[in-house]
Amino acid sequence: MRDLLFEEACAKRKELRSHQVKAVQMIRQSLAQGHQSVVCQMPTGAGKTVIASNIIEKAQAKSNSVIFTAPSVSLIDQTVEAFEGQGITDIGVMQANHPRTDRLAKVQVASVQTLARRDIPQAAMVIVDECHLRAKVIEELMVDRPDVFFVGLSATPWSKGMGLLWQDMVTPCTISDLIDQGYLSQFRVFAPDIPDLSAVKTVAGDYNEAQTAEVMEGKALMASVVETWLAKGENRPTLLFGVNCAHAKQLAEAFQCAGVATAYCDAYTDSVERELIKRRFVAGDVKIACSVRTLTTGVDWPVSCIIDAAPTKSIMLHVQKIGRGLRVNEGTEDLLVLDHAGNSLRLGLVTDIRRDELDKTPPGQKQVSERKEKLPKECANCAALHKGLKCPYCGHKRKPIAGVETVDGELIELTSAKAKNEQATKAEKQLFYSMALWMAGQRGYKQGWAANLYRGKFQVWPRGLSDIATPADQAFLNYEKSRRIAYAKRKGA
Ligand SMILES: [Zn+2]
Repeated sequence: MRDLLFEEACAKRKELRSHQVKAVQMIRQSLAQGHQSVVCQMPTGAGKTVIASNIIEKAQAKSNSVIFTAPSVSLIDQTVEAFEGQGITDIGVMQANHPRTDRLAKVQVASVQTLARRDIPQAAMVIVDECHLRAKVIEELMVDRPDVFFVGLSATPWSKGMGLLWQDMVTPCTISDLIDQGYLSQFRVFAPDIPDLSAVKTVAGDYNEAQTAEVMEGKALMASVVETWLAKGENRPTLLFGVNCAHAKQLAEAFQCAGVATAYCDAYTDSVERELIKRRFVAGDVKIACSVRTLTTGVDWPVSCIIDAAPTKSIMLHVQKIGRGLRVNEGTEDLLVLDHAGNSLRLGLVTDIRRDELDKTPPGQKQVSERKEKLPKECANCAALHKGLKCPYCGHKRKPIAGVETVDGELIELTSAKAKNEQATKAEKQLFYSMALWMAGQRGYKQGWAANLYRGKFQVWPRGLSDIATPADQAFLNYEKSRRIAYAKRKGA
């Protein structure tokens, strides 16, 4: 029976992809060179459990014990499951009353919280997931056990002073590599708003939360978040980041008022409720999951749009947030980022952010962030962010005149739909027009109304299209609603 189970598990086993083979090789090479600890810098979605499994397997072949640590208890079960899927069987879980407790097992999976309260078993190697979080228990262990190998895994191992403890860092692949190879999703970033944070103080290296929330809770900004998603979100499954609970909940309510099903979820949402929200999200019953920065690790939802309404100065947080949406999901061509926080303009596109060395700032000193990234600018035509002279989305060329693409309110125009519209096929244009005709019929409007709506979207009249009406889909309804909100706003102003 056990053999059969084992075979089944092996049948599902994922073969290592080339960047994963490279990761294992680079880690082993670093340790073979005499390093006692090495950090593997790898994007979210690169398959770190597959890599960890392979390392564990190699250790097991030499009868060596391994401890794998996760940053939170909620990640333990999915980690064990992933290891089993890769054919690793001798696993024990270090957690009070866990059914998988097995002190003799060669592989121990533990959360850092549990580890802090226990006698830590002997092991030849400790694999530390999300090592940028710098758990105290791990770092003490690194000092106490100089004979043990430590392997750290993180997409963003850029915490202050990490290089004083970890001896080496390897980077087997970058976000760009994985996008090129099709393992991560392409993405487009739009900056519909650039909040004025000039009066916000910096606390411990990041914007003061309460002051930031005050800026982001401004009426115009809140309305813009809703209107932008309705106009450009294409009814995609969306993850929203607010500054704090109160702000995220306010945005959830604003979307509810606009008829969009939302859910709120944060670090305090218990696992049962979280699972329920996930199911409704996957089924499409919830369109927008609203959260705060705490949701940035460990959640694996099929997201194809991110609304970022939480300004940050931290490149780690920025990359972790966008990373949540870069997984390739069936049925979506890319990730759409609606950045209302100014983060991509301030910190760069996530494909450009990388560090080649661990930070070695001593305690008590300020971390100097060397910025090497060339910052993107907003396309004056479609509001997409890019770096070259020619916009890759709409073909618009920047005028090399200072001031044209400066960061001010002037460019915050809802014209970004144009980028896609220029690429829209005739079938897509026909479908939009047919839906507009259908809606005109439903509401008793004249045909000219449909033509006007079409012109608003495509900047041309609907020539050469047929007059067949087709019932509207949700994306169309959202778009039409966004136009009404925009119209009401213009009239009010
Ligand atoms: Zn453009």
